Amino acid sequence: MKKERILITGGAGFLGSHLCDRFIQEGLHVIAMDNLITGDVSNIEHLFKHPDFEFYHHDVSTFVHVPGELKYILHFASPASPIDYLKIPIQTLKVGSLGIHNLLGLARVKKSRILIASTSEVYGDPLVHPQPEDYYGNVNPVGPRGVYDEAKRFQEAMTMAYHTYHNLDTRIVRIFNTYGPRMRLNDGRVLPAFIGQALRGEDLTVFGDGSQTRSFCYVADQVEGIFRLLMSDYSFPVNIGNPDEITIMQFAEEIIKLTGTKQKIISRPLPQDDPKQRQPDITKAKELLGWTPKVSRAEGLKITYDYFKSLPREVLFQRDYKNFEKYVR
Ligand code: UDP
Repeated sequence: MKKERILITGGAGFLGSHLCDRFIQEGLHVIAMDNLITGDVSNIEHLFKHPDFEFYHHDVSTFVHVPGELKYILHFASPASPIDYLKIPIQTLKVGSLGIHNLLGLARVKKSRILIASTSEVYGDPLVHPQPEDYYGNVNPVGPRGVYDEAKRFQEAMTMAYHTYHNLDTRIVRIFNTYGPRMRLNDGRVLPAFIGQALRGEDLTVFGDGSQTRSFCYVADQVEGIFRLLMSDYSFPVNIGNPDEITIMQFAEEIIKLTGTKQKIISRPLPQDDPKQRQPDITKAKELLGWTPKVSRAEGLKITYDYFKSLPREVLFQRDYKNFEKYVR
């Protein structure tokens, strides 16, 4: 029997690579596409020997062509950390706008079901807490995060327009802070930042007074939620995240305990427009998909710490992405 084929953009990234693994396990033929600005082939190297895995080194902001049938498309290509989109703001805007247009066009031609990765950032610095899907958000379009937030908001609008006007089969997942193995140690996100600092013997940098909150979801739970959403028939946005909320100061203390570091917590200025609170309302995911997160922060952090510890020592000291110079001029 011919296998169903799925295209995963951002397939060499943190979430994209875990999705590649999942769909290989599900028995699909997986085509990963990535331009490798922030993604890394080491995340998918183990799949290259698999007969049902292909990799296209391509930037989805330019015309996308994939020969053959495509049952599903997952659009996960995008820088996704505040440091990344400060460094590559134009690419961030392009992948969320030109990129999604190309992929929606491809989905139309191939008659594919397309799921796009959106984000809790569409809620901006939220004035409603926790955040349900029908909250419209509080986003500053011209602030440092605007390039990401507005690209993702545009992406949702574009996807809904293709759904409404072209009858395209679409899904939208709003991803809240997710962590696990294969996060980039130098992507500036709080978890790799703290663990990297602990491993290098540096102090942990808490931005502001650390009273801002986040709710961290382990990657296996996130992938399960995305899988269930793809297989559902629901075309409006669905939050996937773990509602277990914590302040960043408490989080730093947890990392100190986990790693046993003797370093201390130091304060750094709070970046502009840093959301003060974030917690997903997951009622919809529970009701529609029968999904709830299963992995506690203690379990998930332990697995993630073990992964970071196992990396070659030089990775600990890499300050930029491997391909930064090549792509960003
Ligand atoms: N943060 C911090 N120290 C760091 C990196 C981040 O205190 O070294 C804070 C950041 O200001 C934010 C939270 O941790 O309040 C989460 O930041 P991250 O970049 O992981 O993602 P965000 O949820 O803001 O998109």
